[in-house]
Amino acid sequence: MRQSQLFTKTQKEAPADEVAKNAKLLIRAGFVDKLQAGVYTYLPLGLRVLKNIENIIREEMNSVGGQEILMPSLQPKENWQTTGRWDTMDDLYKVIDISGRENALGPTHEEIVVPLVKQFISSYRDLPFATYQFQNKFRMELRAKSGILRGREFIMKDMYSFHRNETDMIAYYEKMKGVYANVFERVGIGATTFLTFASGGSFSKYSHEFQTITSAGEDTIYICDKCRVAVNNEIIEDQKHACPECGGKNLRAETSVEVGNIFELKTRFSAPFNLSYKDEDGKDQSVVMGCYGIGLGRVLGTVVEVLGDEKGLVWPDAISPFGVHIVELGGSGDDIVRKESQKLYDELISKGIEVLWDDRDLRAGEKFAESDLIGIPLRVVVSSKTIASESFEIKNRATGEVSLVGKDELMAMCKAK
Ligand code: ATP
Ligand code: MG
Repeated sequence: MRQSQLFTKTQKEAPADEVAKNAKLLIRAGFVDKLQAGVYTYLPLGLRVLKNIENIIREEMNSVGGQEILMPSLQPKENWQTTGRWDTMDDLYKVIDISGRENALGPTHEEIVVPLVKQFISSYRDLPFATYQFQNKFRMELRAKSGILRGREFIMKDMYSFHRNETDMIAYYEKMKGVYANVFERVGIGATTFLTFASGGSFSKYSHEFQTITSAGEDTIYICDKCRVAVNNEIIEDQKHACPECGGKNLRAETSVEVGNIFELKTRFSAPFNLSYKDEDGKDQSVVMGCYGIGLGRVLGTVVEVLGDEKGLVWPDAISPFGVHIVELGGSGDDIVRKESQKLYDELISKGIEVLWDDRDLRAGEKFAESDLIGIPLRVVVSSKTIASESFEIKNRATGEVSLVGKDELMAMCKAK
């Protein structure tokens, strides 16, 4: 895409009321716009990153047989009364329409997915399976000061699995630990993300969270480096400051953010909706469930918190809005710089590489600063100087390394996703 066509622009300053690093950088770079506290628009650059994260998650969920659906946000009060959560969930948005009918704006989808699945499940032959969606969630979050890490409206991938018994559910749950680790590895925060033992609520001893170390987080975890797992501060009392895997007491405390979690729901939601199946002997049995959440904006914001530097955003290849940023210096009309930029642009596009081409008439310093702010992994300068030397000046955004390379070398460096 030509940068002159991009309708958003970078900004020198972030809004004064925005305190979080992720939101400040994303707003300045033109990736998101703030509508109100905890509510953001994804602009073209931001949406590209979000969709890349979404696709990685989709691939991983499909790899364990997840079937994608899309459930509504507008949810009847009765469903929420069935589980008792209409009155107990204090972050529930409730809307009343002109006829007096009450609805919840979905903060999660157990109340919808369970009655949905009930229509299709009757026998043990129908189990197990898992279904998931990417859908907006609404929560009346009291502290909406963490930018896109804690939205009042935010997109979540929520998956629900349905099983004949606990053994089967637990086997799937264990598999999900690996799948989640793959997601966080692929989006570029694998090294700083830990499988964390958390309180299981009333249905199981533990649930598991995936916590990423960052000062922007609201949680404290205790990490066992030997086992590469952590314990959430909330349950450390039970643990007597010991690793739940090896019993070791040499744990280090870190501030972190929860990027995802997995939960053994067992029959917490199948029971109130009477979701059951007939076993081999024709006896009714309750369906056993697990659920698995990841906040997409939370993940995106966490990448910014972890990798962003004083110059701006730094995107890992896998989720970057573009693979290459061509910065043309002094080109215009049909001069040689413009022609060479166009040629390189066309060649990269034909290789399946996504390219942002800064074809605007601005000073070099300004273009470089903006390029750093936007954070595309590879910057390629095309100028009369580089043309004269029959090379391209490239800069690796993450390392800051600048070098001159020939065309073949450049093309070899650029890989399609
Ligand atoms: P937290 O403790 O941070 O409030 P939660 O326990 O309420 O999270 P879940 O209800 O399990 O989270 O949601 C699953 C995932 O959705 C979380 O792991 C997180 O990635 C994301 N998430 C939760 N709340 C928000 C929010 N307000 N804004 C953005 N993402 C969120
Ligand atoms: Mg919450």
